[in-house]
Amino acid sequence: SLIYLDNAATTPMSAVAIKAMTEVMKETYGNPSSIHGHGRQANKLLRQARQDLAQLLGTKPQHIFFTSGGTEGNNTAIIGYCLRHQERGKHIITTAIEHHAVLETIDYLVEKFGFEVTIIQPVDQEITAKQIQDALRKDTILVSTMFANNETGNLLPIAEIGQILKEHPAAYHVDAVQAIGKLLIHPEELGIDFLTASAHKFHGPKGIGFLYASTLDFDSYLHGGDQEQKKRAGTENLPAIVGMVAALKEDLEKHTENIGLVQELLDSFLSEMDGTNHYLNKGNNHLPYVLNIGFPGQKHDLLLLRLDLVGISISTGSACTAGIVQTSHVLEAMYGKNSDRLKESVRISLSPQNTLEEMQILAQSLKEIIGG
Ligand code: PLP
Repeated sequence: SLIYLDNAATTPMSAVAIKAMTEVMKETYGNPSSIHGHGRQANKLLRQARQDLAQLLGTKPQHIFFTSGGTEGNNTAIIGYCLRHQERGKHIITTAIEHHAVLETIDYLVEKFGFEVTIIQPVDQEITAKQIQDALRKDTILVSTMFANNETGNLLPIAEIGQILKEHPAAYHVDAVQAIGKLLIHPEELGIDFLTASAHKFHGPKGIGFLYASTLDFDSYLHGGDQEQKKRAGTENLPAIVGMVAALKEDLEKHTENIGLVQELLDSFLSEMDGTNHYLNKGNNHLPYVLNIGFPGQKHDLLLLRLDLVGISISTGSACTAGIVQTSHVLEAMYGKNSDRLKESVRISLSPQNTLEEMQILAQSLKEIIGG
C-alpha cells in the first residue's frame, strides 16, 4: 500500500469537505450574482461561508476575499498594495526563505516598477523580528514574511513583527499557507494587514484559498465583475469555497489534538532513527508537521526515488521545485550554497491521517537504503 508523506505539497481532502462540496455541486448550482431563486440560494451559501470563515479568523466577513489559492493571494496582496501605495515609498522587506510565490512577485515589482527590496537572511537558522526592525526605512511600504516555512516547518516571530509594525506605516503581509488549519490564527490580534491561505494545504480542495485584508486600500488584481467588493472579479467557485470552509472548521476544531498526534508520529519516527547517521535542518521554533532531514553521503534525489519504489512519497523541497529537483533556496539561505545539506536533505511532511505503522515502515525503509 502507498504511504503519503508529502502533506506540505498538498493534503488529501477530508471527508467533510468532499461531502460539503458534492452537495453544493448537486444542489446549489446557481450563480451567486443572479437575482432569481437559484442565485439567491447560492448567494446565501456564499455569505454563510464567508461569515463562518471570518469567525474562524476572529474577524468580520468584509475582510475575507476568496482567491484561487496561495499564489494568487500573495500576488494580490503584494502587487495590489505596493502599486496602490508606491507614491509613499518603494521599499519592501522580505526574507530569503519565502516561497517563490512571494519572492518572484516582489522580483516582478523590482524589475518592472523600480521597487527596492531588502531580503533578510536567516542567522543561526532563524529570522528575528530585530532583523526586520533594523531593515525598516522611511520609504518601506510593505513587509512580507511567511508564518511557517514549507520546507522546514520553522515558525517566524509573527506577533513580534506585527508589534514592531504598529509603530511604522508599512503594511504587514503574512503568507500563512503552511500554518492555517494547524494553528489558531487571528490576524487582527497579530497586527497582520494581509494574510494568505490555500485550502489544499488543510484538507480542502485545490485551486481555492482566501486573502484576509484589513483594508480595501489595494489595487484589484482581476478586473471585471463586482464580486469580492470589486477586488477580485469572476464568478465565485462556490463548491470549493464551501469545501474549504468545512475543511478548515474541522481542522481548527481539532487543532490541539492534531498537533499532539503529529508530534507523536514525528517523535516515534525519530526514535526509530536513533543511532543512524542523520541531521535535522530546523530552527528552534518549529511545527511538527514538517521534518527536513539529511543523511550524510546520501543523494536526496536517489533517496526519494528509492522510497518511491517501495510506495512512499516524500519530497526534496517545495512542490514546484521537486519536479525538477532544484537545490533548495531555503536550505541555501540557512546553511550556505556549498553545504552538503543541499544535496542530502529530504522533506517528510505529515498529517494527522498518517499512522505510527507508516512511521515504522518509513524508518525501516530509510535504514535499509542508507545502510545498504
Ligand atoms: N506559499 C507557501 C508557503 C506554500 O507552501 C505554497 C504552496 O506550496 C504557496 C504559497 C502556493 O500556494 P498555491 O499552491 O495554493 O498557489
